[in-house]
Amino acid sequence: MSVSCLVFDTKRYAINDGPGVRVTIFLKGCPLRCAWCHNPESIAPQMEKMYTPGKCIGCLACIEACPEDALTMTEERGVVTDFEACTMCGLCAECCPTGAMEMVAEMTDVQAVVDAVLEERVIIDQSGGGVTFSGGEPLMHHRFLIKALEACRAEGIHCTVDTSGFAPGEVLMAVAARTDHWLYDLKSMNPDTHLRWTGVRNEVILENLTALAESGASINIRIPLIEGVNADDENMRTTAAFVKGLAGEPKQVNLLPYHKIAESKYAKLGRTIELEGMAEPSEERLAEIAAMFSASGLDATVGG
Ligand code: SF4
Ligand code: SF4
Repeated sequence: MSVSCLVFDTKRYAINDGPGVRVTIFLKGCPLRCAWCHNPESIAPQMEKMYTPGKCIGCLACIEACPEDALTMTEERGVVTDFEACTMCGLCAECCPTGAMEMVAEMTDVQAVVDAVLEERVIIDQSGGGVTFSGGEPLMHHRFLIKALEACRAEGIHCTVDTSGFAPGEVLMAVAARTDHWLYDLKSMNPDTHLRWTGVRNEVILENLTALAESGASINIRIPLIEGVNADDENMRTTAAFVKGLAGEPKQVNLLPYHKIAESKYAKLGRTIELEGMAEPSEERLAEIAAMFSASGLDATVGG
């Protein structure tokens, strides 16, 4: 039986999602609610649609096409959706001539993923790249993920999984048996801070990372840095000490500064984002944090 999953983006020629040049497959749905999320369309596991007023020419085709009368043209905000009435049938997006109205994901089966990856086989082989499964949270779709990993590996494709680590341990280890490399996020070492900013505590995430490292997996640790959330000295020190103490080969650490770039995406989805209390770290602060990790004997770089 074919297994499918909602894929909200397929990024070709990705150079920061694991070794070499990669095809990154973004699976829709995540159990976390990170306040700074750059991909709000990745969070809900169901189909969603987005509206970009700047692309709308006011032709009203979407309004005429909607069988639920869920759309209204307004002066201030262009086409407004009544999400109580909308069934996400996609007819409005299908008939929109400019792409102002669009469905954010597509139900995709394993073979379609493999086909997309194999289209880039030459550059993948030349660069030592592969496929990366990201999200959302790919472990949330572990049945699809395992099938997709097995199918890609059968083609000799190197497989990376980009995860928050928030999943049952047995799911993580089942995926690990079919994965060559991990990108593993660490957001905060303090369980209460983690809960406040992501909606979940961090114990499972830390336990899973410990077990993954003990299994000998190849892992890059990725740390989003947000002033007001996790970029303080104490969290940086405890994070560095934790990573340093992990078993296995030395871990590469990627420090990923937060950028306020997603606000418009939230508006297109008909949502708001709470940015209060969060700030982008300065260049000086990033350098200080990188130095702190290096002083702990870790290989830390900004970006990647
Ligand atoms: S997705 Fe379907 S129900 Fe929802 S607004 Fe568009 S046409 Fe109407
Ligand atoms: S069909 Fe597209 S361009 Fe036309 S009114 Fe609707 S959103 Fe705007």
